[in-house]
Amino acid sequence: MEKSLKTLLAEHGFSFKKAFGQNFLTDDNLLDEIVEKSGISKDDTVLEIGPGAGALTRHISKRAKKVVCYEIDTKLKPILDEVLYNADNVEVVFSDIMKCPIEQVEKKLGGKYVMVANLPYYITTPIVMKFLEQAKNLKAMVIMVQEEVALRFSSSAGESDYGAITVGIDLRGSADIVLRVPREKFTPAPNVDSAVIKITIDENKFKGVNFEKVREVVRIAFSSRRKMLVNNLMNGYKISRDIANEILSSADISLTERGENLSAERFVVLSKIIAEKGIKS
Ligand code: SAM
Repeated sequence: MEKSLKTLLAEHGFSFKKAFGQNFLTDDNLLDEIVEKSGISKDDTVLEIGPGAGALTRHISKRAKKVVCYEIDTKLKPILDEVLYNADNVEVVFSDIMKCPIEQVEKKLGGKYVMVANLPYYITTPIVMKFLEQAKNLKAMVIMVQEEVALRFSSSAGESDYGAITVGIDLRGSADIVLRVPREKFTPAPNVDSAVIKITIDENKFKGVNFEKVREVVRIAFSSRRKMLVNNLMNGYKISRDIANEILSSADISLTERGENLSAERFVVLSKIIAEKGIKS
């Protein structure tokens, strides 16, 4: 019989570190459901960020061709060695994923891959942004995040949760909540409920667009959420109201519009006009 997580951690004298967002999953049915929702098959390579005690890793390894994990906490090494002793398709790299250049991570993965992870909450948005902006071979991210973050990631223009990250996701693909997970499913239980979100990358979406320029416009448009777009453009680009109004008219955007109501498509149009006029921040 397999040991319980509690027994395993106690045997290794492991104590949870809040600073690393260590809330582990134990429910085998739930772990399997997460992997099932990811849709991975024996042809897939998976990147797992934060394997913890390896519970999710074991389930991924049974369904995937290869799993590469990045774990910051070296205290988990003996535990992972024990839990994954017969999982031949798993490699664990002990490193802070935020400090690893994406090219290096992708070289290790060796081709197209899916990210499946119960993400450390304290760096969810930076991780998602880093991969959306820099990853070349990412097919999808199936990630457990705080429920409120999942709602933000999957919201649409005009909704209260809509923001720069939502536009960032929309520029590369689409996001759907695939599972809700109550806080009691974790050890230790966090203060909030969670959800699994699937972000599917569509390489043909906005092909040929200057993403860097779009992201610059998005950043400026959301720099002061309560202000109208025209004011944020004036401040961000140091341009007159007349020029800002001219840009908005050319993009067919109302002069009183706010950034939170613009779809990714509109941001793309707006960024092209700003670039054509040679305006830089
Ligand atoms: N995958 C396990 C599970 O589902 O039970 C653990 C998930 S736990 C929420 C997050 C994990 O990410 C922890 O093991 C933590 O040590 C690790 N972690 C935190 N920050 C990290 C970072 N910057 N790079 C890599 N791993 C990190």
